[in-house]
Amino acid sequence: MPQKTLGYVQLEWTCPSCGSRNPGPQKACTNCGAPQPQDVEFEQAAEETLIADQAQAARAAAGPDIHCPYCGTRNPAGAQRCKQCGGDLVGGQARASGQVLGAHRSGPAQPVACPACGASNPATVFNCGQCGASLAETRPSQPAPQPSAAAPQGKKPLLIGCGIVLVLAICAFLGLAALGAFTPAKDVAGRVRSVAWTRTIAIEQLADARYDGWRDEVPSGARLGSCSKKLHHTQDSPAPGAEEVCGTPYTVDQGSGYGKVVQDCEYRVYEDWCNYTVREWRAFDEVKATGANLNPEWPSVRLSTGQREGEREEDYQVVFLGNDDKQYTYQTNNAADFARFVVGSNWELKVKGSSVVSAQKQ
Ligand SMILES: [Zn+2]
Ligand SMILES: [Zn+2]
Ligand SMILES: [Zn+2]
Repeated sequence: MPQKTLGYVQLEWTCPSCGSRNPGPQKACTNCGAPQPQDVEFEQAAEETLIADQAQAARAAAGPDIHCPYCGTRNPAGAQRCKQCGGDLVGGQARASGQVLGAHRSGPAQPVACPACGASNPATVFNCGQCGASLAETRPSQPAPQPSAAAPQGKKPLLIGCGIVLVLAICAFLGLAALGAFTPAKDVAGRVRSVAWTRTIAIEQLADARYDGWRDEVPSGARLGSCSKKLHHTQDSPAPGAEEVCGTPYTVDQGSGYGKVVQDCEYRVYEDWCNYTVREWRAFDEVKATGANLNPEWPSVRLSTGQREGEREEDYQVVFLGNDDKQYTYQTNNAADFARFVVGSNWELKVKGSSVVSAQKQ
């Protein structure tokens, strides 16, 4: 997901010698003068204000500081020689950066009470305004929620539900298949008792059919109805008319005492979703012919204007009386197959339950 930079903020560090809090970019402790240690961990200020000063913002954007390979002094990104010893900084190690520190603290922080004199101080100051004591330990710890992605959530339960239904369906299917497989086919001798046929012709008629679809998918010749904007897709890059949806801003350590405030964003592209009408052939009626002989016929069709014949269907049924006095039924859609079963003729049948699987003339 693309990141959007909102700006830069100053981080803080706590002096390991005296416990005082110091502004992130400051390389030595205000209180005791001790240098910022090499393994210093920058923290978010209680109240983070985006840097407005252009020059300072440029410094913040420059990147992580570089440790001098000779004396260990930290130098700003882009420096060629160490400001302390003059050593060549090529090969110097850049400070670790890119760590997410927490949600951007844009709101005002609660005032803090001085541990020494009890005076109330704004959370942004490092020392008590009344007595000068360090306020390092009193900084209120704000909850730092993990940055939330902008992507919509809540699809998981639905997916799980679908999964369960699918598994049940597969189990049911396998169960039925197993039952069928375990019912053995048996051989029975049978005589054709009766035959029956049904032939059907569908009648179709031109009619208006309404559909919905994206505007660019509406077929030519369709009558366009009303359209409304609907979410078409979500993408990483901005586009004209796209809706920008961003997650909670959060602060990322720049390795220089500054933090970058970023937001993960995505872009929702909306397109016209339309209903439209097309003229198309639709099932309207059907004509049927039936009989109880071996001479099936198609029903006669009388079409009105704007009508045509649709699909044809043929179903044939043969009923046998087995030598076990039970009745068995054979079904087919093939007229030539059906024509073999003369009433009264004798057959060797393979049956499953009451259905005939195959038949061979005796
Ligand atoms: Zn100190
Ligand atoms: Zn150096
Ligand atoms: Zn005080």
